[in-house]
Amino acid sequence: MDSLSNQQVQKVILELDQALSSHEQWYKNLQRVLISHTAPEPSDLKNDAHLHCDFGQWYTSPHVQFLQENPLFISLGKAHEKMHRRARHLIQRISDGLPILVRDWDPFDDSIVKMRVKIQALREEFAAVVQNRDPLTEAKTRARLLTELCEQQALVQRGKQLCVIAMVDLDHFKRINDEYGHAAGDIVLVSTVKQLKSHLRAYDRIYRYGGEEFIICMPSTSVEQSREVIERMRVAIAAQHFDFGKAHVTASFGVSVLRASRTVEESIHCADKAMYRAKTAGRNRVELDPE
Ligand code: GH3
Ligand code: MG
Ligand code: MG
Repeated sequence: MDSLSNQQVQKVILELDQALSSHEQWYKNLQRVLISHTAPEPSDLKNDAHLHCDFGQWYTSPHVQFLQENPLFISLGKAHEKMHRRARHLIQRISDGLPILVRDWDPFDDSIVKMRVKIQALREEFAAVVQNRDPLTEAKTRARLLTELCEQQALVQRGKQLCVIAMVDLDHFKRINDEYGHAAGDIVLVSTVKQLKSHLRAYDRIYRYGGEEFIICMPSTSVEQSREVIERMRVAIAAQHFDFGKAHVTASFGVSVLRASRTVEESIHCADKAMYRAKTAGRNRVELDPE
């Protein structure tokens, strides 16, 4: 989910709302069939009914393939299929002129509730992704930084992994704003985060720490491995071109590691100190925390 843009996430949320609404519409029609004995949808009597309703069409459409491994999405699919199986049995009873038994109705009713709950939970999962992002750059927020770094720190303390963090601060960024305007500065911030993100690996994260300051978190990485990636990031930032003018944007990096012997805040402070050394040594460089 982290690789999706806010726009893509918003689109999924909208589709989930539509999927919920078509599911409710389907349920309304089914109630008519069961209570007023109107004619059922022929597809609801098929063995693969769950693939034919509007919700099922959405669920199996190629553009939600990226959700295939999401546990909530998977369990939503299973709940939907089960619900259709139970609905088919109810329709069959009515068609055969038989009453609906409580022992058949209750599980069906439960699966209707389950579907609503799961759609809602998936929606909330997506909404949280957007809420936890800085709206301008779509980097994660500083509030998430402390929570997530503390989780990483717990793994470090249990000896499960190493975790590198890097403080990134754009060089002379105030000049960009002064020379080209604040909107140009915003473009630089957005573009720089895109560059940084394009170098992140699956479990790496980027957070907006302050105005033009970012923190990168690289779990399960040695300092040597991360240095190579960070060096590529530094080069990529310096190679950016902008439509608004000939701005030459660079960044200074301070690299540190989470340690069992110190707090997350202390490790961030060490990355910050290393970044300041990169500044005083001439900027557009990567410095390591010596501790
Ligand atoms: P240094 O190389 O020492 O880091 O210099 P600098 O100019 O980058 O650092 P300084 O802290 O003096 O200036 C940071 C500037 O970043 C000041 C502030 O106006 C700007 N800034 C912070 N947030 C935003 C933002 O969201 N958009 C824009 N356009 N500018 C921002
Ligand atoms: Mg700064
Ligand atoms: Mg700066």
